[in-house]
Amino acid sequence: MADTVTLLIEPLPADAATSDLDATFREVDATAPALRVGELSTQRGDGIFETIGVVDGHAQEARPHLERLRNSARICELPEPNLPQWEAAIARAVESLPATGEFALKLVLSRGIEHGPAPTAWLHAAPAADFSAARERGIRVVTLDRGYARDTAERAPWLLLGAKTLSYAVNMAAIREAKRRGADDAIFVSSDGYVMEGPTSSVILRHGDTWSTPAPSGAILHGTTQLSLFEHLEASGRRTEYRDIPVDDLERADAAWLVSSVRLAAGIVELDGRPMPYDADETRELNDYLLSPRD
Ligand code: PLP
Repeated sequence: MADTVTLLIEPLPADAATSDLDATFREVDATAPALRVGELSTQRGDGIFETIGVVDGHAQEARPHLERLRNSARICELPEPNLPQWEAAIARAVESLPATGEFALKLVLSRGIEHGPAPTAWLHAAPAADFSAARERGIRVVTLDRGYARDTAERAPWLLLGAKTLSYAVNMAAIREAKRRGADDAIFVSSDGYVMEGPTSSVILRHGDTWSTPAPSGAILHGTTQLSLFEHLEASGRRTEYRDIPVDDLERADAAWLVSSVRLAAGIVELDGRPMPYDADETRELNDYLLSPRD
């Protein structure tokens, strides 16, 4: 059985009711050319995406990811995705992957080719990288200025903050800068001094018994992993809150994590070169939950 799968999808209008959804996508060889030169996703990063974790044959939180895809499409003025069609494509991909192991399943919806008739869409699933060291031993993090104030999303909606667009060059540059500074990852801080998110993750802090995460103001992506973890923590009686988090609160946290769909929970062991308290047992508990089947 192959451990990668790629499907090219003919996006249906959101309200199209088709009984044969399987006929709207086809499997292609991921190593063969599939996109046109005029494709706006590659030329301008003009499109949106989602990355879903697949664990032992189960696509984790597929529906929340699809709802966020729909929200990103709305922000970017792309045609609303047909969620049953994407669900069918995810199901087909998962069926053709091995039944055990971890995979990263990426959905892409691009504006298509310039003056073209329709958006372009595809799905690609491949084995996930081995994140056991980050999960078990934690990560070193530096704070980096994001260059935007906390309220920028409302003042400048054309910046598309809050949408998961394909334009991740800045996010990748931030991770390179973190590595140059001897760390593994970064936390973006707003120009007015508030904690935002990692370049590919959400930030969760614990002070005493209270778990907090930055209020989803629109300037950051609302993480599916953070949402799922907060539901889990609340169900087991823990106190959670969304709030504006000044950088000082990050420094004073009793424990802190970067959480995301494929790496899952990575505890922060060092912040800007200073040791951070790290709770190995709590981190293991979070990852055990994140690795269990979640819808
Ligand atoms: N914030 C950003 C900028 C991201 O790119 C991601 C995921 O890639 C996240 C947060 C975490 O989102 P999720 O938990 O849905 O993976």
